[in-house]
Amino acid sequence: MDGLSRAWSSARFAFDFAVVRRDRPFVLGLAVTDRCNLRCRHCRVWSAHAPHMPLAQIAATLRRFHDRGARLLYLEGGEPFLWRDGELRLADVVGLARRLGYLRVHIYSNGTLPLDAPADFVWVSADGLHETNFALRGSNLDQVLDHARDCATKKAMLFTVNSVNHQDILPFLELVREALPGVPVMFNLHTPYYGQDELLLDEHTSALDPKTAVEVMRLTEEIIAGDSLTAIVVTHNMDQAIRFGHRLIMMNQGRIILDVSGREKEELTVAQVMDHFSRVRGEVYADDAMLLT
Ligand code: SF4
Repeated sequence: MDGLSRAWSSARFAFDFAVVRRDRPFVLGLAVTDRCNLRCRHCRVWSAHAPHMPLAQIAATLRRFHDRGARLLYLEGGEPFLWRDGELRLADVVGLARRLGYLRVHIYSNGTLPLDAPADFVWVSADGLHETNFALRGSNLDQVLDHARDCATKKAMLFTVNSVNHQDILPFLELVREALPGVPVMFNLHTPYYGQDELLLDEHTSALDPKTAVEVMRLTEEIIAGDSLTAIVVTHNMDQAIRFGHRLIMMNQGRIILDVSGREKEELTVAQVMDHFSRVRGEVYADDAMLLT
């Protein structure tokens, strides 16, 4: 598509979208492969063996959605840079999309492979500083940053925030400012997959005032029950630990010192838990607030 046709297509779309308000899809997100070289803890789509989508099928899909109005293409996976069809690589898919009239092509990548397709924009995922990112995604952050630095295309880092990595937000911004000057960072909130995901809530009410904490715990229960989630709540609040959930596990210096569930848990009191903790530690605690010190 030459420059004039591109400009005409953009103007026409803007007119349809903003003036006529015609109801048409604008963005096509296409997972060209489910294969991935990572096993991110939050991910349910990766596969080691799924076949890549053949180029003929990609072309047919691009044409169909272009006819319906799509002009912005997001190439996703799996890891899209793993995509193959014979000798063809992701750069060929980008070229095809341009010839078919897509105005902009974005790629979402885990950054573990060279980011060498001639797209308009590349989003590179990393979910925290080195240790956190490795624990969550299994990728080497230095390698990901190197690939982002070597990428000639405009790019941004993509950070999915969850209860494990939220502490890394500010240091991550500083790291990116140092390592990739001028490269923006976009933050997404992690969305658990219904009925399949563990929701890790790490002291998610500790900074709240008592009234708000009660409301947040009420909502937490409602969401967990409504979406059939398995949730692990970390708390120093003994009353909360006893009243909510089906099983209570108490830890001391990395060891489990109490593990109760069902009826036994229902009948438990804060005083009993504190007494048990005091005996294990050989220290006396007047109330559970002292556990925070
Ligand atoms: S890089 Fe993407 S597709 Fe691969 S495991 Fe992680 S989230 Fe899933």
